[in-house]
Amino acid sequence: MSGAPVLEVRGLSKRFGGVAAVDGVDLAVAPGELLALIGPNGAGKSTCFNMLNGQLKPDGGTVTLLGRDVTGLPPRAIWQLGVGRTFQITATFGSMSVRENVQMALISHHRRAFSIFSPATALHRDRAEALLTQVDMGGQADRICGVLAYGDLKRVELAMALANDPKLLLMDEPTAGMAPRERTDLMALTARLARQRGIAVLFTEHDMDVVFGQADRVVVLDHGKLIAGGSPAEIRADARVQAVYLGTGAAGA
Ligand code: ADP
Ligand code: MG
Repeated sequence: MSGAPVLEVRGLSKRFGGVAAVDGVDLAVAPGELLALIGPNGAGKSTCFNMLNGQLKPDGGTVTLLGRDVTGLPPRAIWQLGVGRTFQITATFGSMSVRENVQMALISHHRRAFSIFSPATALHRDRAEALLTQVDMGGQADRICGVLAYGDLKRVELAMALANDPKLLLMDEPTAGMAPRERTDLMALTARLARQRGIAVLFTEHDMDVVFGQADRVVVLDHGKLIAGGSPAEIRADARVQAVYLGTGAAGA
C-alpha cells in the first residue's frame, strides 16, 4: 500500500465574523490510518469537518484528496470522490430493515460508480449481507432500524458508509450519546475495517480512553490552531495539551 496521503490539508482557515474558528490548519491522513482531531468545545473541530465534507467553503487554504485539489467543492462532489461520513444524528430510515438500509446505500453507490451497467438484480442483497457481517450485524439484517439499540444503529451507519467504498471517512463525534464500552467497540471496529481496506479515517472523540486506545496519531486543536500532533503517548505527555484540557492556561494562552 502506498504511503502517500489520502487527505492533505494546508493552511485551512475559516472566520465567523471576528472569530477565527479554524486558523491555518495543516494535516494529512495516510491510507489505513486513524487520525484523531481533538480539542475543547469550540476549538474548531466541526468547522474543519464541514470544510472537508464540502458543507462550508474555506476562507483560505487547500484540501487535497488523493492528489486532487477539492477545495470548495460541494458535498455531493466530495462524496462522489470517495469521502464517506457518519453523522452525529443517525441517517438510517427507521421504517426499513437493516438490510434494506445497506442495500439503499449500495444502490446509490453503484449508480454513481457504474451507472446503468450495474446489474440491479437482487438489489445487492449478498453484498449488503457481507457488509453487515463485517460490522457484526449479520444476525440482525431483517430487523427494522427503528427498533435497534443506538450502538447497533451506529454499526449499520458504518456499513452504509462502507457501501460507498470510501477512501476517506470523516467521523465528527461518531460515538456521541453512547456508553463508554460501546464507544470503544465502535472505534475498534472502525479501526479494524479501516486498516483492512486502507481507508483513511479522521475522527473527533471526547473520550480520551477511546482516542488514546484507537488512534494511530492525534492532533490537538485549540482556538482554531493546531497546538500539538503526535502518537497517543506523545500527546498524553504533552504539557500544552494537558494545560488546554485542565484549563490551567499554562500553555501560554
Ligand atoms: P468544535 O466542533 O471544536 O466544538 P466548532 O467548529 O463547532 O468547534 O466551533 C468553532 C468556533 O466557531 C466556535 O467559536 C463557534 O462558536 C464558532 N462557530 C461555529 N459555527 C459557526 C457558525 N455557523 N456561525 C458562527 N460561528 C460559528
Ligand atoms: Mg463539534
